[in-house]
Amino acid sequence: MTTTLITNIGELVTNDPEAAEDGRGLLGVVEQAALLLEGAHVAWVGRAADAPAADQLVDAGGRAVLPGFVDSHSHLVFAGDRAAEFAARMAGTPYAAGGIRTTVAATRAATDEQLTSHVARLVEEMRRQGTTTVEIKSGYGLSVHDEARSLAVARQFTDETTFLGAHVVPEGDPGEYVDLVTGPMLDAAKEHARWIDVFCERGAFDADQARTILRAGAAAGLRGRLHANQLTYGEGVRLAAELGLVAVDHCTYLSDEDVAALRDSGTIATLLPGVEFSTRQPYPDARRLLDAGVRVALASDCNPGSCFTSSIPLCIALAVREMGMTPAEAVHAATYRGAEALDRDDVGALLPGRRADLVVLDAPTHVHLAYRPGVPLVRQTWAAGRPL
Ligand SMILES: [Zn+2]
Repeated sequence: MTTTLITNIGELVTNDPEAAEDGRGLLGVVEQAALLLEGAHVAWVGRAADAPAADQLVDAGGRAVLPGFVDSHSHLVFAGDRAAEFAARMAGTPYAAGGIRTTVAATRAATDEQLTSHVARLVEEMRRQGTTTVEIKSGYGLSVHDEARSLAVARQFTDETTFLGAHVVPEGDPGEYVDLVTGPMLDAAKEHARWIDVFCERGAFDADQARTILRAGAAAGLRGRLHANQLTYGEGVRLAAELGLVAVDHCTYLSDEDVAALRDSGTIATLLPGVEFSTRQPYPDARRLLDAGVRVALASDCNPGSCFTSSIPLCIALAVREMGMTPAEAVHAATYRGAEALDRDDVGALLPGRRADLVVLDAPTHVHLAYRPGVPLVRQTWAAGRPL
């Protein structure tokens, strides 16, 4: 197998989990570092001066190298454009969950080819900004046929596909719709999905409905995730903790009881600051969660309504500037914790045996991701040992 040595790395972020314990810091940084890749995986990590020989050499020019970003929450399968709704919101119209129905109509009208080429464009946009693993949800089909085909489209781009038939009730009686989601729609969706998710929020689904849907998903072999406590206080976060879900996403409005439930259950709080930025809402308090001992991940929530950004660097900058995270915590949350939020131990860190997914920054350290907001600092993204 061909070996490649990336050397002259000014700062290598490894996310070695042992580093935090032995005083090397949260990110397990190695300075003046090198990274040996063997095929698709990392084979060796350390000081450049100690590096083994390799078939090929790549000079990083003193730049920072990080694990590729793991975006554990996105809604890329859709058609249509809601720029006018965004403009109206910026002019003072509040965000409501019902805007989803606009995208549902456009998505149902699109062909499979149109949906596929649209997702391909967004995944490419993400890669250019350093994202190497992405979770993609359905949720703009909301019929048996359209949810199944949305997931089949998503599956062409990632193994991390999530059935979100319970995004909003598209029309008719909510009870009948829950029966559809947990019955024929789940049957059609499950072969294309790894996860099941529910938008547990006023105007969408309540906690009892969410519990019913997640249990049906579990019985069909899908693992649960939840959108909760985005727009107001509610029972969603405690439900996620009660069910032992790996992650619960948004977590903007949290009581002390919610924070304690997250800490005690180990459920990861995935914060999505692009949403608050794009809806002009208060940001979640990451500092409060971290200080309580809760694991925090960051993701984009890229979607056409509440947050149409695919940029993890933007999310990192917002988390540092607006949510009380340090640059190191934000980078860790968008890489290592993102992988944990998808229950993946093969990505999210640059350590022997992990996949060689990495980002070369046009900057000397990871801090520049927050220090230089809005600047395209991702010079090169590598996935599975190959530069893209
Ligand atoms: Zn979402």
